Amino acid sequence: MKKVVKFGGSSLASAAQFQKVGAIIREDYHRAYVVPSAPGKRFDGDTKVTDMLYDCYALAVADEDFSEKLNAIRARYDEIINGLSLDFSLDDEFQVIAENFSKKVGPDYAASRGEYLSGKVMAAYLGFTFVDPAETIRFTDNGEFDAETTQEIMSKRLSKYSNAVIPGFYGAMKNGRVKTFSRGGSDITGSIVAKAVRADVYENWTDVSGMLVADPRIVDNPKPIEYVTYKELRELAYMGATVLHEDAIFPVRQENIPINIRNTNVPEDPGTWIVGSTCQKSKYIITGIAGKKGFCSVNVEKDMMNSEVGFGRKVLQAFEDCGISFEHMPTGIDTLTVYVHQDDFVDKEQNVVSAIQRLAHPDMIDIEADLALIAVVGRGMKSQKGTAATIFKQLSARDVNVKMIDQGSSEQNIIIGVANRDFETAIKAIYNGFVKAK
Ligand code: ASP
Repeated sequence: MKKVVKFGGSSLASAAQFQKVGAIIREDYHRAYVVPSAPGKRFDGDTKVTDMLYDCYALAVADEDFSEKLNAIRARYDEIINGLSLDFSLDDEFQVIAENFSKKVGPDYAASRGEYLSGKVMAAYLGFTFVDPAETIRFTDNGEFDAETTQEIMSKRLSKYSNAVIPGFYGAMKNGRVKTFSRGGSDITGSIVAKAVRADVYENWTDVSGMLVADPRIVDNPKPIEYVTYKELRELAYMGATVLHEDAIFPVRQENIPINIRNTNVPEDPGTWIVGSTCQKSKYIITGIAGKKGFCSVNVEKDMMNSEVGFGRKVLQAFEDCGISFEHMPTGIDTLTVYVHQDDFVDKEQNVVSAIQRLAHPDMIDIEADLALIAVVGRGMKSQKGTAATIFKQLSARDVNVKMIDQGSSEQNIIIGVANRDFETAIKAIYNGFVKAK
């Protein structure tokens, strides 16, 4: 049994957090490959080390004195090293970093030092081998992640060690130039390492006990999700339920390695399992509810539209020509509605309208703003009667007007359009209908 364990910034923000992480790793010797983030916030209003590094490097680029900011970063690590009573110094490392900042080697190098130093401290603390992603995670010369080469190098390298610390967030191009993933990218590193060592599980340790059925800012104390499939996660994440970097799914998905989201501060909680498929049923039929505000609908009407070949294509062509991606397109007999993000749309609205007019010659175009979309997601909905009935019964009982309904053919999600002002009421109503009623 092999486990890859990734710890997020809040799990490594202080010596006390490092101690919790150490206890989690020592408790289970299968936890052999450790992927740390950079130290995150210790308290509300604190600054993440990654942000401190970007800030510090900006001074170096402007040829200003960056020593004070670099010392503040150093103090974050020294606090951890001293708190852990480690006989270990980062003197040489900080010397090299200062030299490279003066040489302006790039913002990616600067940001990557957060994870690099975290990894150095972690390796010393655990007595594990330090493996530098600059040597094992490869980006192409265009800055794209090179999955194939990485898999080859990383699996070969890690096969030599029974345990290792591999810092998250970065790799390098062939010429050695450091490149980071996008923010939150240590999740991707964890997934890459899990694939490389063919782990039995990828544990992703953070500061929440997994995913919740609904957003806790809307629903009080929502229930945790025990199992979610990669597919369901994608649907929920797309609608704003984030727990993991989106690109972290791909490497483990190829190998069907389950991800277990866990809480460093409450390690006894089982967390959420993200899996390829499962016969585990959700207690509530639905797996989760997520949603977003800020959509517009563009309603297009034309008599006899149903028999006009190519009408839909012409309407969508107008959006494509204006560089706007659409979300949903429910259709009626002589009507077709296109949902778009309001922010992307507002500036181009008149261009889109005239393009639709020119290309599709409709009888009427009407725009409605300030709409929200809510996704009710669940593999348990398939072939199950009454799911839609529960949703709409709840919404009508709360006086919420439904503007759009779209059930994906996978029968794994139902998308509902409501006015922005009804968004919170609708989510609470649906949650209560499935979870509280249980
Ligand atoms: N430290 C990086 C960030 O703050 C990457 C990560 O934590 O995953 O985005």
